[in-house]
Amino acid sequence: MTLAIYRNPFTFLEAPWYRDLPDADVVISGIPFDLATSGRAGARSGPGAIRQASGNLVWDSPRWPWDFELGERLKIADAGDIDFPYGEPQLATDAIQAFARNLLDAGKTMLSFGGDHYVTLPLLREHARKHGPLALLHFDAHTDTYHDGTTFDHGCMFHHAMNEGLLLPGHSVQVGIRTTYTYAGHPFTVLDASWVNEMPARKVIERIREIIADQPVYLTFDIDCLDPAFAPGTGTPVAGGLTSDRATQIIRGLKGLDIRGMDVVEVAPAYDHAEITSLAAATLALEML
Ligand code: MN
Ligand code: MN
Repeated sequence: MTLAIYRNPFTFLEAPWYRDLPDADVVISGIPFDLATSGRAGARSGPGAIRQASGNLVWDSPRWPWDFELGERLKIADAGDIDFPYGEPQLATDAIQAFARNLLDAGKTMLSFGGDHYVTLPLLREHARKHGPLALLHFDAHTDTYHDGTTFDHGCMFHHAMNEGLLLPGHSVQVGIRTTYTYAGHPFTVLDASWVNEMPARKVIERIREIIADQPVYLTFDIDCLDPAFAPGTGTPVAGGLTSDRATQIIRGLKGLDIRGMDVVEVAPAYDHAEITSLAAATLALEML
């Protein structure tokens, strides 16, 4: 008998919940931090919304159009949300890094749910400490490389990450960009939203694979990469983005890349309608797995 998907507590895909080191390959964690937002706050509630929406995805097994059961290939556990004191972004940063270090040192792969996009910076630090500099595969409406911003800023992390030597700029690519970024020395390849929307998904996938080649990758998905029609529940929406179908096809097409860590960020349920955004985020996260 299938259990009701609306019962509490929610974990991602009904994965077992744990607080100590789990017997799992991939560990889900939520990072309810949104003190670095420039626009509308609210992404602190993203992890719970994504978990709850994932209840809609567990009955389709094996998932269409996969020809295998996820559970046969990967053991997944949900660690719940990372604890940190409110109003202290540096202490939150330290807590995220300590949490990630513990998991990565134990050989786990992380799939993290933001939170605003700033949380990717402490995650990247620990992933680069473990694996060395990484190719960044970044889905977003914004490049988040603005170098006139502040320390705790969801628009500047990849500027800081470059300065800290965490990334391989020649193998890094940003997908879905549709805000201004042009300044001399922008370090990453940009596949902007109008190009991505013109091309067949397989062309986009080919181009991403060409750029990344065989380098180790950190995959970060800011949900505002999707058009606001597909992801209204986010802090800084920008019209003209990807459909959830296109994004799903692209993520599915990344099979075989050497992905070392993943996150989905910027889901802000207070601006969502009918769980459109959290369902899209949960679906993309499932495809990443
Ligand atoms: Mn964005
Ligand atoms: Mn972003």
